[in-house]
Amino acid sequence: MTEPSASPVMVQYHEIKRANPGCLLFFRMGDFYELFFEDAVAAAQALDIALTKRGRHEGADIPMCGVPVHTAEAYLARLIRAGFKVAMCDQIEDPAEARRRGAKMLRRAVVRVVTAGTLTEEGLLDARRHNYLAGLAEAGSEMGLAWLDLSTGAFALAPTSESALAGDLARLSPGEILLPERLLARPVLFELLAEWKPALTPLPNPRFESEAGRRRLQEFYGVGALDGFGNFGRAEIAAAGALVDYVGLTQQGPAPHLEPPRRVMPGSVMQIDAATRRNLELVTTLAGERKGSLLATIDRTVTAAGARLLADDLAAPLTAVAAIDARLDAVQFFVDRPEMRAAVRERLRRCPDIERALTRLSLARGGPRDLAALRQSLGETASLRGMIEVSASGLVPLPEQLAEARNGLGEHGVLVGRLDRALAAELPLFARDGGFIAAGYSEELDEWKSLRDESRRMIAALQARYAGETAIAALKIRHNNVIGYYIEVSANHAGKLGPEFIHRQTMAGAQRYTTAELADLETKIASAAERALALELGLYEDLVGEVMARRGEIAAAAAALATLDLAAAFAELAVEGQWVRPAVEEGTAFEISDGRHPTVEAALAASGNGSGFVANDCVLADNRVWLVTGPNMAGKSTFLRQNALIAILAQIGSYVPARGARIGIVDRLFSRVGAADDLARGRSTFMVEMVETAAILNQAGPSSFVILDEIGRGTATFDGLSIAWAALEHLHEVNRCRTLFATHYHELTALAAKLPALGCHTMRVKEWKGDVVFLHEVGPGTADRSYGIHVAKLAGLPKSVTARAEEVLGVLEKGEQGGALARLADDLPLFSAARRRTDPPPPASAAEALLRETRPDELTPREALDLVYRLRGALDAD
Ligand code: ADP
Repeated sequence: MTEPSASPVMVQYHEIKRANPGCLLFFRMGDFYELFFEDAVAAAQALDIALTKRGRHEGADIPMCGVPVHTAEAYLARLIRAGFKVAMCDQIEDPAEARRRGAKMLRRAVVRVVTAGTLTEEGLLDARRHNYLAGLAEAGSEMGLAWLDLSTGAFALAPTSESALAGDLARLSPGEILLPERLLARPVLFELLAEWKPALTPLPNPRFESEAGRRRLQEFYGVGALDGFGNFGRAEIAAAGALVDYVGLTQQGPAPHLEPPRRVMPGSVMQIDAATRRNLELVTTLAGERKGSLLATIDRTVTAAGARLLADDLAAPLTAVAAIDARLDAVQFFVDRPEMRAAVRERLRRCPDIERALTRLSLARGGPRDLAALRQSLGETASLRGMIEVSASGLVPLPEQLAEARNGLGEHGVLVGRLDRALAAELPLFARDGGFIAAGYSEELDEWKSLRDESRRMIAALQARYAGETAIAALKIRHNNVIGYYIEVSANHAGKLGPEFIHRQTMAGAQRYTTAELADLETKIASAAERALALELGLYEDLVGEVMARRGEIAAAAAALATLDLAAAFAELAVEGQWVRPAVEEGTAFEISDGRHPTVEAALAASGNGSGFVANDCVLADNRVWLVTGPNMAGKSTFLRQNALIAILAQIGSYVPARGARIGIVDRLFSRVGAADDLARGRSTFMVEMVETAAILNQAGPSSFVILDEIGRGTATFDGLSIAWAALEHLHEVNRCRTLFATHYHELTALAAKLPALGCHTMRVKEWKGDVVFLHEVGPGTADRSYGIHVAKLAGLPKSVTARAEEVLGVLEKGEQGGALARLADDLPLFSAARRRTDPPPPASAAEALLRETRPDELTPREALDLVYRLRGALDAD
């Protein structure tokens, strides 16, 4: 190809490329997907493959690179991870068809656009996590969020708002977020969404129109109205409609399976903002690793779907007592029946992932192995159902959740039986490779296959005969994809062959021939093989058709398997770690006896210090605010976090690491733990700390649970102390939430005299022969010293430095005498400021307040624009 710009293929290429803006175009040419021009440059760099050139366009070389079709998935995975979208352009006819049409060029079309949020392949997905495609929309003053997992068909929506959005996204952690360009242009949202930048797909505004969205959803589900699914807001419908639209655009071919959208009511899940999730290391550690996170520590599931359910539940703890109790009942059922638990888990271990297999089949992207997965898992459902029924046949009724799961498992004997008979033992990845139908399933297929195999045997006989006749012992009949069957002899034997041998090819040191007889046999084999494959493909379609007809039941069975897995896994975890069933109730109780931190305890156990974790009580009753003092390294953070984690575990329906636990539902959980620089977003440690503290003070309410660790550390001592002081007062007086407040400012304990619900607790420390021993025990009282210099000694600071530090400390401590702190409790102006916050709010509006703060001469044009938006927002809020 010298001048492809003029070639019809290049014309076709440009046309398709134009129709798919924003995507890399994988352009199928024979056994390769090829990329050209800037796509080639970008992909070659991202994939680290050779950039070559092919022909010229407008006087310049055309850059090109390519990947083989059969390994394309691995390359796709890397491109998607690098943030690209890829349009897959295939040849949609075979060369014979094109010839019949008299065309020189194959028809090609984009069969799919692969994006981060619309993956279905095993190789591109994390088996143990959902991969959500989310959509955000606005209608009037409402905002709505919808999300779906194309690989399982899960689909949900919920109202959201500018203030709730960050937390909602943190909960879902979507792989891709669709939103109207208009929303991204709004400064508040632009800032908030910056964190999700690689996942954002802004689309033209009209795609998020709510009426069009409603029509699209009605069409998709074949219903006249959406009311049957729930009472949805316009913005939610707009978001959901945009998702369905996008799925249609990216997935050509059969419509994917999507469950009817489920509405997640605001308030039905515990609100946990992104910072709290990070700080508590729910899914990854602060270092970004999975190992050491709460999720990794508690995951005892044995199926991928169970693991996905756990990750989802952990992201969204419940707030309804009845729903939590229903989960706990199921867990307890398995805790009480160890043998049955073991048997159920043993069965579940043999269940491959059918949720994703089902979706691949429904998108015509599956293969025989997906059918085998269904046969396998559905085959286990009967015995699982039996097990649950037998153990429940007694006096105790089956817990509600397990009764539902038992029904969901369903009856699949007929389908399983058919798949069992149909599928061969060894299965290819793709149906097009053939050879997956078992012998005996179809008489006709068996006939064609034996004809094909018989002919192959005849070829072997022919080789023996030719070798004998020509007296060339080394004569071989071989096959390749280019010239088919051929007879090969080494060059020095070539003269011995008779005239019936027709020359085909000369190789280095060998000659290749065919004969009329061989050609004849070859035709027979080829047509038998072709017939056999066509028959197999037909049978495959029948089987897939049968599966699709039972799609709803299979999806229900998949959900039931995941539920069973998770309940049994929680039970396993509970028994293993001697965890206890929490009593969850309305109100604001919080009574933990002998609580432990699940991951710290596990880490200690792993390091051979199994009994080393010291359990601690936490009873927030008369004192709903605990001020926890103690030196560094004494275990304050661990204590704070363990109580927050226990609340989360209880509300996801798990047992908790304690001897007893009584927990009033937590509606919002906040944490401010540890120091984290957010330099990527241009915030110092102190700024991050203040932003997180602001969120807590502005949002926490009486049902919330707050843990605050070392507020005010990132600034000068008096600044820091003052901020910590005022924050503590505010939490006590205004937020009135359950709070654990750890600090190294012992001065704060002076507040205990003033604040009735504040209790002082401290980490016990023993001094022994001049050394400090941390007992990790929480007890009433106040730490008398910081022991900072002891910790410095432990850390190996030079002796001369620690000795000098002790000297300096002695001098400083003398200067702190004289009851100064007791006076501070009454005099610090911040104290009365916090009190005032509870008075009736001042009449000035938020917009006025904003204006009053404004210094016009100091604003940049950008800040001025932001201000206009904020003023407008403040007006709306007033
Ligand atoms: P602080 O916040 O007071 O500086 P941490 O909570 O970070 O202290 O604890 C420091 C270390 O002490 C932890 O990494 C852990 O190994 C150990 N530790 C903390 N609490 C306990 C406990 N209850 N039992 C045993 N070891 C603990």
